[in-house]
Amino acid sequence: MRLDWQTYTLELAHPFRIAHGTSLTRTAVFVNLEGGLGEAAVVDYHGERLEAVTAYLEAARDRLEGAPASLQERLARLPAGGSRAARAALEMALFDLWGRALGAPLWRLFGLDPDRAPPTSFTVAMGEPEEMAGLARAAKMPVLKLKLGSEGDLERLEAVRAARPDARIRVDANGGWTPEAARRLLPELTRLGVKLLEQPLPPEDRAAYAGLKGRGLPLFADEPIKTVRDVVDWAPYVDGVVIKLAKSGGLAPARAMIATARGLGLQVMLGCMVETRLAVGAAAHLAPLADHADLDGPLLLKNDPFTGLDYDGARLRLPAEPGLGIRPRT
Ligand SMILES: [Mg+2]
Repeated sequence: MRLDWQTYTLELAHPFRIAHGTSLTRTAVFVNLEGGLGEAAVVDYHGERLEAVTAYLEAARDRLEGAPASLQERLARLPAGGSRAARAALEMALFDLWGRALGAPLWRLFGLDPDRAPPTSFTVAMGEPEEMAGLARAAKMPVLKLKLGSEGDLERLEAVRAARPDARIRVDANGGWTPEAARRLLPELTRLGVKLLEQPLPPEDRAAYAGLKGRGLPLFADEPIKTVRDVVDWAPYVDGVVIKLAKSGGLAPARAMIATARGLGLQVMLGCMVETRLAVGAAAHLAPLADHADLDGPLLLKNDPFTGLDYDGARLRLPAEPGLGIRPRT
């Protein structure tokens, strides 16, 4: 199969500061597999490197050579190890080809109702309290996800709450708190009407999550949740898991993780990296399966080169065209 790829620099509309560091740009790799499209997010705090993405694509190109036309047989040829983001990109491309051949968008082939996709949150990156309040006010989105995880978080949260008394606020600390800080902040989060807390502590502190669970604020794990095994292992410690294609390695493993999370009584948030409409559009096909959507990557970018996923405020309008339904903007 003919496979081409291209590295692309994503420009962020605002500096994107989270507990893992600050970015003004991010790197994406766009793949084209005989016309099927996919995107790999090169996110270093998830262990992704451009060289590893490229190495995976080269290995996959060899293995896909002469592959039969069936989706399952092609998926089985994708290398098992290596970059999960690269696997996700190729898997998107294979599903894109499959859906186009069948003449229907993926959500329909998956038997899902696009009207059941939850509204997406809008991410407010970490900054000075007044900056965050300004972004929250300008966003006019009903659900905000505040990136916290360093000194001064209470002031940040208070400023945003004062600016947006109406907003449903979620907090993502990206593992930036200590157990002591988390215990101190938890009652304040509740007082300020926060609805959900994501990754307060580093993944290594899993046992300490037990001390935060069941205290009135749904607790979600994100960074460590990459496989069905991770969903099972984390289930006793959290109320929900954040599933992203770039972590799971694509749509099929993400669906398996969602099913397992459901079986274990966990809530599901479907998230994204800082990604274009290509990768986020792919994830959006699974949004009807999620309780919460955090699919705002394209809204954070200045130079998204793709079209096909639309936002009506916070509401996702799922692609209507066959396959992924995402095309280069012309
Ligand atoms: Mg997160």
